[in-house]
Amino acid sequence: MSEDWGIVTLPTSGDPEKVAIGRLKAASDMALKYYGTPLVVTTSGGKDSSVCVELALRGGIPFEVQHNHTTADAPETVRFVRQEFARLENLGVKCTINYPAYKGKRTSMWSLIPQKLMPPTRLMRYCCSVLKEQGGNGRFITTGVRWAESSRRKRDRGVFEAFTRNKDKRLILKGENQKPSEVFESCKIAAKRVVNPIVDWPDKQVWSFLQDAKVPVNPLYECGVSRVGCIGCPLARKSKRYDEFRRWPAYEKLYIQAFDRMLDERRKRGKMDGNWMMGGTGQDVFRWWMEEDVLPGQISVDDILEN
Ligand code: SF4
Repeated sequence: MSEDWGIVTLPTSGDPEKVAIGRLKAASDMALKYYGTPLVVTTSGGKDSSVCVELALRGGIPFEVQHNHTTADAPETVRFVRQEFARLENLGVKCTINYPAYKGKRTSMWSLIPQKLMPPTRLMRYCCSVLKEQGGNGRFITTGVRWAESSRRKRDRGVFEAFTRNKDKRLILKGENQKPSEVFESCKIAAKRVVNPIVDWPDKQVWSFLQDAKVPVNPLYECGVSRVGCIGCPLARKSKRYDEFRRWPAYEKLYIQAFDRMLDERRKRGKMDGNWMMGGTGQDVFRWWMEEDVLPGQISVDDILEN
């Protein structure tokens, strides 16, 4: 089945690969129409991004690839992205690595923590907006977001999306019952437009596509890592975070050193009063951050989340 969506004819059911490529073609045409620039396929170095890149190649659309260097990714992921970019550039695809900046200067997870005066937490994930979400402004982008990844994504994410600073004006098109051209035509405000071509793909489909396509995949999956991303991410399960710090102990040290500098900064600014770690160390903050024992006078992560 297919439907004329004003700009392109979009398959709405049938072969998932054709449906996904149809979504990419629609997004590509809208990118050229509304922005005058090619669609940007963003890659985190994970398997879902690899699928999106391969689909864009198969779709024969003009596109670029961008990667946001988070500074907290595994070394294997950093190397994989560089290798992939070399492969794609040989195919004529423009590839860009975006390095994070904060207040006009280059930054990293390790310099951001002392600047923000607190560790990133599930509720205060300031690191995502600085390290992961800065690229693609003023462009139409593709991500590998999938509903199967979490109930939150299933609830909040769609096939086509227009994000604005004002969350009330965010537009999400979840299914094929609304034309993307209508959604985007009515969206006159400056917005980051997004297509998630494989949003409805289950894990099994991702893996079987990658196996059939024989495209390179981040080697961490072969080492038993189920999801690649920032090491120690506070959004991940505690057991996963401990596994990561066992595998990459240098990152635990980097966090502890950053927490030490954060405490120094708090002392310098006289912000050690109340619940925050009077006389504490980076190691104490690390234990708190890993949701271990809460020392007298400290607040728990749950306290922060409840407030
Ligand atoms: S650590 Fe987690 S919350 Fe922070 S940038 Fe990485 S993914 Fe986002």
